[in-house]
Amino acid sequence: MKKAIFVLVSLTLIVPMLILSMPGRVSAVDSDLAEVSSTKKLRIIAFGAHPDDCEEKAGGVSAIWAALGHQVKFVSTTNGDIGNWRTTGALLAQRRTTEARQAAKTLGIESSLVLDNHDGELMPTLENRKKIVRLIREWKADIVLTHRTNDYHPDHRYTGVLVQDAAFMVTAPFFCPDVPRLPKNPVFLYYSDDFERPNPFRPDIVVAIDDVFDQKLDALMAFESQFIEGGGNGHEGLLAKNEAELAVRQRDVRNWLCGQFEPVADKYRKKLIELYGEDKGKKIKYAEAFEMCEYGRQASAAELKQLFPSFGR
Ligand SMILES: [Zn+2]
Repeated sequence: MKKAIFVLVSLTLIVPMLILSMPGRVSAVDSDLAEVSSTKKLRIIAFGAHPDDCEEKAGGVSAIWAALGHQVKFVSTTNGDIGNWRTTGALLAQRRTTEARQAAKTLGIESSLVLDNHDGELMPTLENRKKIVRLIREWKADIVLTHRTNDYHPDHRYTGVLVQDAAFMVTAPFFCPDVPRLPKNPVFLYYSDDFERPNPFRPDIVVAIDDVFDQKLDALMAFESQFIEGGGNGHEGLLAKNEAELAVRQRDVRNWLCGQFEPVADKYRKKLIELYGEDKGKKIKYAEAFEMCEYGRQASAAELKQLFPSFGR
């Protein structure tokens, strides 16, 4: 009996050592790839400063993830309660939360959460850092998306800072011990933007969203307070007086949105061709681009292609 146990223990120790020393063995990165490409369902959490930011920056790729059965959660770090020219306060916060829920339904994503922080007043406090860490842990995220910290809007910047601050803390066992730490650090990525200073956005992964672009537009059209009414910079003249005027306004907004998103694919065309090949890469009309943050888990180029699954569709 003792001998049998000895042999068993020896085997359990020796076999993995042999496997580890075998040439051409499956590396950690390769096994991640195998895991992602087979049956693993990814868990993605996207942070935007305002209800509509996640939808604008990652609505397309999220619709693709959702269609493939991956779990996506959008979090707005403020309630957007100053983002309209004719309503404000709790009424507007409630309205924008409803709009965000409708957009999530349109994209087919799992969850949409609007945090009750005032629009324009988000601060990178310890309390907010803990909130973000808990949300990432509770979602058991594999991928975390957010704004870069040189974005124009203070809420965007501080959302970026808060998520950066969480990029290590989500794994620290005694920080917020009420929610179990993540055993594996997620991959953190930034949304694309056009800001150049101190450093321009560098695309690590660019995803074709042509197949789901209409769905993305439908989701954005749910934010009537922002697009139909013009948000904080809107005016009386934008309000439709009847159904016919509303239809015209909706068509104009949709066209305007198309124009807003068109430059992304052209701007990152080189990367699209590198990722999709010459033929397909040249034809892509709409895309979403992301840059990997240096603080979370670092994914290889091959793993990024597996994590953003529109390749080979
Ligand atoms: Zn915003």
